[in-house]
Amino acid sequence: MAERVIPLLDQRSSSLAVPARVLASDAPATGWLADSLGRPLRDLRISVTDRCNFRCSYCMPKEVFDKDYPYLPHSSLLSFEEITRVARQFLAHGVRKIRLTGGEPLLRKNIELLVEQLSALRTVDGLPPDLTLTTNGSLLRRKAQALKAAGLNRVTVSLDGLDDTVFRRMNDVDFPVAEVLDGIAAAQEAGLFEGSGLKVNMVVKRGTNDHEILPMARHFRGTGVVLRFIEYMDVGATNGWRMDEVLPSTEVVQRIHAELPLVQLPATSTGETAQRWAYADGSGEVGMISSVTQAFCGDCNRARLSTEGQLYLCLFASQGHDLRSLLRGGASDQELSAAIAHIWQGRADRYSELRSTLPPAEAGGARRVEMSYIGG
Ligand code: SAM
Ligand code: SF4
Ligand code: SF4
Repeated sequence: MAERVIPLLDQRSSSLAVPARVLASDAPATGWLADSLGRPLRDLRISVTDRCNFRCSYCMPKEVFDKDYPYLPHSSLLSFEEITRVARQFLAHGVRKIRLTGGEPLLRKNIELLVEQLSALRTVDGLPPDLTLTTNGSLLRRKAQALKAAGLNRVTVSLDGLDDTVFRRMNDVDFPVAEVLDGIAAAQEAGLFEGSGLKVNMVVKRGTNDHEILPMARHFRGTGVVLRFIEYMDVGATNGWRMDEVLPSTEVVQRIHAELPLVQLPATSTGETAQRWAYADGSGEVGMISSVTQAFCGDCNRARLSTEGQLYLCLFASQGHDLRSLLRGGASDQELSAAIAHIWQGRADRYSELRSTLPPAEAGGARRVEMSYIGG
């Protein structure tokens, strides 16, 4: 069946300026910042490129992201120094975890230099940030050792199936699954699994790759890799999302449990996106990210910095807040800090909780930015 694609309305240039009076406020960062719903700022996701070598239909369908697609010019991207400068202010406001993403973050030239700069920063507890990266795994064999040496703690690898034909169809550039599996092995050899272990994320689309759930579970059980199933989301404006293609996590759990009994585990931290389940025989765990059927906005503590320095407060936002103009307009660290505080304190986003109640015009994705731009 032909993939449905909704044409892209480019939202990237639509951003909110930080008012001058905000910049003048001189309240110092205290390491604790709550939004208007009381949610603290803890997690910063940074998109380092809007380009990718895959064309997963749920993210960058190739009918839209073709050779004529207007990717950002290099001059629009935040430099490593600019990213590090912003990240320092976020850490002062209480961020503990930084995730590099994209697009495909390993396509950004010399990404390990950015990792090195970020790992030299300190949280308010005086510790290095928990530094992680989400990748499609295609370049991991080449990059894993250098990333580890630069201070990266962990990677999350996206992999939507084990069957080579299914996988090549899902990445839509005919990329072989064996190379991603080899990338995962390289990450394990390099030790990129500190803390909560190396994670593999599988987006499940009903009728496309749901028959790969059990083969994936069997493959990663007992390896130390935590396999997480993500519900296919209505993010962006181009993937032609439909609710009937979402396979609820409850069904994923049932299918695995029928063959490999599972027991539910308590969450390790607030703001944890995945529900954790352990194999009853002690051979590891799996995670369920139920972004569509069981919204977790209530403790969402994530901010997203786009490739060109727009701060987004929700994956489903249609506008970002322009930090790049501040960075390039001579703002002081104090002013940057005040801007971040003001933006976070005004946050009321909780799209997933409201999804089913929104009128079609607001729920419709035509105004949303793409995931490859703000980072997953
Ligand atoms: N290219 C990298 C990768 O694929 O891991 C990093 C960026 S990608 C946008 C980050 C994550 O978002 C991936 O795990 C991907 O599977 C997920 N993702 C993208 N579009 C999605 C959608 N429509 N629904 C659910 N997850 C999605
Ligand atoms: Fe690329 Fe990742 Fe999006 Fe797939 S999910 S198209 S690998 S950015
Ligand atoms: Fe956070 Fe927005 Fe997702 Fe809710 S919908 S969990 S607020 S990113």
